[in-house]
Amino acid sequence: MGRLDGKVAVITGGARGQGAAEAEMFRDEGAQVVITDVLDEEGGRTAASLGVEFLHHDVSSATAWDAVVADTVSHHGRIDVLVNNAGILRGARLVNTSDDIWDQTVAINQTGVFFGMRAVAPQMIEQGSGSIVNISSVAGLEATFASMAYGATKWAVRGMTKIAALELGRHNIRVNSIHPGLINTDMTSEFDKDRMVRSIPMGREAEPSEVAAVALFLASDDASYCSGQEFTVDGGMHR
Ligand code: NAD
Repeated sequence: MGRLDGKVAVITGGARGQGAAEAEMFRDEGAQVVITDVLDEEGGRTAASLGVEFLHHDVSSATAWDAVVADTVSHHGRIDVLVNNAGILRGARLVNTSDDIWDQTVAINQTGVFFGMRAVAPQMIEQGSGSIVNISSVAGLEATFASMAYGATKWAVRGMTKIAALELGRHNIRVNSIHPGLINTDMTSEFDKDRMVRSIPMGREAEPSEVAAVALFLASDDASYCSGQEFTVDGGMHR
């Protein structure tokens, strides 16, 4: 028996990286999975190889969210899990953070998460259950260098998670945030990792599956009384 048998999960930014790892793990545990992304070719390839559904979706568009929810409910009948995973990182110090970096980062990383929670909540309220997992970052727990825009959005995701958990708890909808540290995906491929891992107690980066395992826990009924909480997956980096 799978830990997500009978559940329907939407995972944004699922074409690659952590989202793809979550899609694979959720599928293995019995969920019907819909991945969404702006990367159509990669998304289609990932979905075909995993045997899940792919939808083109820009998380910064409210109307695109309406379409994803309508499509998922019409094909699968319900939405039990939303993983708000899509995100971008455009590193810049305060004085170098252009309007464009700020606006795009907020639109995708923060407004996208808000739109996502707002779009699925009525369906989950009608069902009387649901789990929303928002992917924040260690940069949403502490100050990190050259991350004015990115850090602002990840702190916002952490706060929005708690507000949504407060409002939706009475409907049996749980909302939690995950705070990954250094994860081996395209997002970090240009990083100077040798220098970074020296500050990580476990002395290494993580594979996407190590974050997916925590997302799986939060998506499943194993986490039936966990809501409004931060789950850090960082090898001990934040302390
Ligand atoms: P990634 O770049 O491999 O994946 C991000 C995915 O989001 C990509 O497939 C991308 O196309 C998609 N995306 C970007 N803009 C989008 C949009 N407007 N609409 C829909 N999809 C969009 O990186 P990842 O590491 O898998 O990132 C997943 C999440 O984890 C992100 O929210 C990121 O901020 C967070 N995170 C990553 C790390 C890390 O070390 N990699 C650490 C902390 C937090």
